Amino acid sequence: MDGTAEGGQDTQGAVRARDAQYIDGRWRPAAGGGRIDVVDPVTEKVIGQVPAGTAEDVDTAVRAARAALPGWAATPPAERAAVLGAVRDLMVARRAEIAATVTAELGAPPAFATAVHTDMPTAVMGSFAAIAAAYTFEEQVGNSRVFQEPVGVVGAITPWNYPLHQVVAKAAPALAAGCTVVLKPAEDTPLVAQLFAAILDEAGLPAGVFNLVTGLGPVAGQALAEHPGVDLVSFTGSTAVGRQIGATAGAAVKRVALELGGKSANVILPGADLARAVNVGIANVFANSGQTCSAWTRMLVDAARYDEAVELAVTAAAKYVPGERLGPVVNAKQRERVRGYIRRGVAEGGRIVAGGPEAPDGMDTGYFVRPTVFADVAPGTTIAQEEIFGPVVVLMKYEDEADALRIANGTVYGLAGAVWGADEAAAVAFARRMDTGQVDINGGRFNPLAPFGGYKQSGVGRELGVHGLAEYLQTKSLQF
Ligand code: NAD
Repeated sequence: MDGTAEGGQDTQGAVRARDAQYIDGRWRPAAGGGRIDVVDPVTEKVIGQVPAGTAEDVDTAVRAARAALPGWAATPPAERAAVLGAVRDLMVARRAEIAATVTAELGAPPAFATAVHTDMPTAVMGSFAAIAAAYTFEEQVGNSRVFQEPVGVVGAITPWNYPLHQVVAKAAPALAAGCTVVLKPAEDTPLVAQLFAAILDEAGLPAGVFNLVTGLGPVAGQALAEHPGVDLVSFTGSTAVGRQIGATAGAAVKRVALELGGKSANVILPGADLARAVNVGIANVFANSGQTCSAWTRMLVDAARYDEAVELAVTAAAKYVPGERLGPVVNAKQRERVRGYIRRGVAEGGRIVAGGPEAPDGMDTGYFVRPTVFADVAPGTTIAQEEIFGPVVVLMKYEDEADALRIANGTVYGLAGAVWGADEAAAVAFARRMDTGQVDINGGRFNPLAPFGGYKQSGVGRELGVHGLAEYLQTKSLQF
């Protein structure tokens, strides 16, 4: 059922805001009267309102998820897979609506909203339909029968940067595993999460298996993370909040998966195709206006080719015209945060070779940041260490491979990275020494089946593929 809330006003049109929470298979009015404005980052106009959920909404949703758990956990994996397959097909059918929604609430340029924000989560949903159908949920080990059982009720808390992908990367494996879910999406991008709930409903997911509570992080998010009826908290977002959620989960001896920040290195080895490495590297950083946790925000080039790399980066960056190929960042706070980092980079001795902290020419409206390239950045400075989450890349010079590895591994993060080299075996050897969860060799393509997640402070656990499914399973053995 994709109805409106009883007594609630919905925004109609291509992009829809529902004034309701999706709990126990229906849209119902929120417990409190608070609302959150959803703002288009391009126009700065309010495009809708969603409920500011409270602890009461979270409690109702968790109870619904608990009640639905035995039935969904006992549903044969092939049937669960069939529902996920139906969800995937509906995502395909509603592709334009999904993309328009992400464009409206995140400001993503339409082509990117379709090709990445829509098609990537659709592929991930399809991958979990296939994995659920083929996975070995029970096996014989010697005189034991070993079962993979769902962990239980999952509390999923997601950020705004890839608003549907982050939701699907949690909901799809959780549902495939037989878990039930309560989702608290980011307050900036709740509309595509509402659309996703409507799609799950249309696909025939039983009531209570998936529930959505919109609301603020420190209110609804915290209530979900602390709820005793939640067995596993899966969080993606900032390291600061992740640390807090990890501590809360630890105190309750509760499973937790954390997908946090990154400061990934793009290591261009001597002999690599420099033009390709720089061009792909710049595209990687400026995609999604730099709001990608796995973005290669530090480009490492050998001293002999450093000046050439800087020139190539400046040329590549010029193609990212704000308002065209480069969208805005999500909100005014994020824009000021990113501009603050750019100013700090200059204060700490970095040399701006493209962009800067000022608003792009003639753009008074919209949360735009100029695509910014820094050269001569010392590895210990703030912009070389902290996640900026905006269209900013730093180019650093290394003397030899040992120096490159020291710089690459010299942050608290370890989420992703890239290595480019003429000799693939040497590039692989370098990548194996990087303290990071995922490395693309010579521009390797995104693989929805590859495990994704962090070393060090980039997080705990893995998403996507069979490793992603395993996060939502616990093991039982019976001896005979
Ligand atoms: P955030 O961590 O505050 O928010 C992420 C999610 O957590 C949102 O749904 C939010 O409502 C919720 N949340 C916030 N406080 C909470 C709390 N106390 N308890 C439970 N849930 C809570 O991230 P943000 O403010 O949206 O962004 C800040 C920075 O985080 C960004 O600039 C960026 O550096 C980083 N970030 C990283 C990722 C990533 O994918 N790694 C994604 C988004 C943001």
